[in-house]
Parts: sequence; C-alpha cells; structure tokens
Amino acid sequence: MDYDVIVVGAGPAGASAAYWLGEAGKRVLLLEKERLPRYKPCGGGVPKTVFDRFPFDFSPVVEREIGRVRFRFRDGREVAAELPGRPVAMVMRDRFDYHILQHAHADVRDGALVVALEQDEAGVEVTTRSGETFRGRYLIGADGANSRVARLVGLRRTRLLGATIEVEVPAGDGLLTEFGDTVLFVLGTPRYGYLWVFPKADHLSVGIGVFGAGAKGHVMRETLQREMTRLGIEVDGAPQRGHPLPVHLHNEPLRRGQVLLTGDAAGLVDPLLGEGIRHAVNSGRLAADSVLTDNLSTYTRQVRRRIGNDLLWGGRWARLFYGHPWGSFELGVRNPRFLNQFLRLFAGRTTYRAMALRAPLDLLLGLGRRRPTTAPET
Ligand SMILES: Cc1cc2nc3c(=O)[nH]c(=O)nc-3n(C[C@H](O)[C@H](O)[C@H](O)COP(=O)(O)OP(=O)(O)OC[C@H]3O[C@@H](n4cnc5c(N)ncnc54)[C@H](O)[C@@H]3O)c2cc1C
Repeated sequence: MDYDVIVVGAGPAGASAAYWLGEAGKRVLLLEKERLPRYKPCGGGVPKTVFDRFPFDFSPVVEREIGRVRFRFRDGREVAAELPGRPVAMVMRDRFDYHILQHAHADVRDGALVVALEQDEAGVEVTTRSGETFRGRYLIGADGANSRVARLVGLRRTRLLGATIEVEVPAGDGLLTEFGDTVLFVLGTPRYGYLWVFPKADHLSVGIGVFGAGAKGHVMRETLQREMTRLGIEVDGAPQRGHPLPVHLHNEPLRRGQVLLTGDAAGLVDPLLGEGIRHAVNSGRLAADSVLTDNLSTYTRQVRRRIGNDLLWGGRWARLFYGHPWGSFELGVRNPRFLNQFLRLFAGRTTYRAMALRAPLDLLLGLGRRRPTTAPET
C-alpha cells in the first residue's frame, strides 16, 4: 500500500484532513488538480473560531478583521451594527488554504487531476489524468462543489447547486477606508440570495449569490453591476468568476466503502449565508478522526449530528428570510434582538437551532425597539 490515506483536493476540507492525519503519523498523499497555491472564488469571510481548531497562527493570512456589518435593503435603506472583538476575519483563499496545507505532514502533488477510482478489500486506487496510479487504505474526497469523487462512488446524486459570481475589485483609498473593517450585505435582491462587499488588504471582494435553483447568469450579472454601481464600486473591467455552491438540503450518506466525502464535496454549504469554510474544516477533522479510529461507519452520523442537522435549520431560516425579504428586513434585521443573534451566527458563536428556539421571544421583545434605518436613496 503506497499510503494510509489519499486526500483529493487542497481546499480547507482536504488541507485540514491532511493536517490532522499527518499529525497522527499517517502516511498521507494529497492530490490537487490546480497548481498550488490556487485561486478560489470566495468571499473569504471566516469566523475566527475556525482558527482555534488548529494549534498554529493564522495572522499571516488575515487580510482584515471585521468589526462592523452594514445591512442594506434593495431600496437603499441601511442598518449598521458593531461586531465587538472583531470576531470575523477576511482571507484570500489561495493563501489561507495553502497556509493550512503547509503545516500538514503530507506528500502533496499539485497539477494532479483525479479521473478514476476503484475500491477493493484492501483499499482504494486512484488514477490521475497523466496516468499515474496511487493506492491508499482510505480516500477522503475533498474535491469541492462538482466533486468527481462523489460521482465516481455514486454518492450525492441529487445535489442542489446554487450560483455565485465573484469579482476581485481594485479599490482606491476612499473605498478601502469606507470598508476597512466593514462588510456589507445587500438584501431583497436577487431573489433567494444576496450581494456582498468584503474588504481585503488592497481590494474589495464583491459578489452575488443565489441559493436556490433557477438562477439566471445574465440577471445575476446585471444585478451585480447595478447594485455595485449604486455603492460607487466599479465591477466592469475586473474578471467575473462564476462558481457553484452546493447548498445543504438534506442529510445523506457520505461514505461508500473506504471513501468519505467532506466540505463542498459533501454538500455542506449553509443555505442562508452560503458559508462553507467552517463546515469544510470541521468535516475534514471528522473524516480524519474516523480514519484514525478505523471507524468509518459512524462518519455520516457524526457529520449529520455536528453539522448537517443545524444546516437543515439554516434551510428553514433561508426559506423564511428569502421568501419574505421585506418582512425579514423590517421584523428581523431591524429587530435588535434578531440582529444580535445574526451577528453571533456570522461570528460562529450560535446555531440556527438556538436562534429558532429563542425566535418567538426575540420577535416579541424586539418589536417595540426596531432600529432606525438611514433614509433610502432618491
Ligand atoms: C463566490 C463564493 C463566495 C463564498 N464566500 C464564502 C465566505 O465568505 N465564507 C465561507 O465560509 N464560505 C464561502 N463560500 C463557500 C466556500 O468557498 C466553500 O464552502 C469552501 O471552499 C469549501 O471548501 P472545500 O475544501 O470543500 O472545497 P474547495 O475549496 O472547492 O476545494 C476543492 C479542491 O479540490 C480540487 N479538485 C477538484 N476536483 C479535483 C480532482 N478531480 N482531482 C484533484 N483535485 C480536484 C479543486 O481544485 C480545489 O482546490 C463561498 C463560495 C463561493 C463560490
């Protein structure tokens, strides 16, 4: 056997699985189709609680720390809120993902697209496009939204892919000062999604996401252009990159034989926020633990218990929020108690289920104290 574990994909799911397996002394091979470090379209917003999962420092890859959130409704009205302690970091994914990987004791092959996979009693054999084969006792599929590993082993047959467009916009001093420690969400447009402005060290990452089916590319591009222009952000001229988002709709099997799926390959993207880095890292750790205890049979259950069940609550919130955008802005975002819970969620400090349990009380007690908004644009 060449390796104890083969990991496919060098995103946060694969890099963290490789890290924990390497720490435990396993012989790990990580195969990545791109040359590393590689660009990944992503807002790059990460709750700092994710960093606490690792014993090394993430400050070299933090571009900004977020202390303020602006919520803008489609009519131009805004509510702003402080995020005490700056609990959310902004990263660029090429540097962030590679940072984790550089701490991993693993053989890394980049430019290695996995095209075939076979399992037998002893383990798993993968073949790359160049015709090389590698054998491992286990395989962790961390190959993202369009996971070929999932396809090859017959898992995740009914995936829902939301749609996103991301643009890295060069920004002058004015915009960088305006958004220095601030993220902005535009709500109420597009249908079943939102737009974002996330500040990076020397530019802005802006984008649009639709978390349901039926997104139309040209409508998304028009909406992105229109809303960013209203904010004084020029997206024309910078490359616009589309990328699918595997929104979590239901819990499903994530293991076939000696193969486990993690992160986007396992469909672990939050249906309300579109957040996936945290769940990728956490599922990477769960997969590593399953391998280390030689107990793959409980992996699906662990993911469901630690991640999937709460994302199902997220799906209920998403249907409510995106189904009734005006009501959600008026009764949710402007309600200080809901707003506070949302900020805690954004910072990775509460769950959708906990939010749901306190929702009736928050709705009632917050109603009389709705936050003022800035005036809409004329
Ligand atoms: C526009 C956009 C904005 C987002 N913003 C945020 C955000 O702000 N915060 C957040 O938490 N989440 C965000 N997400 C979600 C987040 O990007 C994903 O959930 C996260 O990248 C999942 O990590 P992963 O390791 O599972 O997969 P990925 O990061 O996609 O990594 C998969 C890796 O596998 C490689 N690969 C694929 N196929 C093969 C193959 N056959 N052989 C070898 N290698 C292969 C790919 O090249 C890639 O490097 C955003 C997503 C999008 C699209």
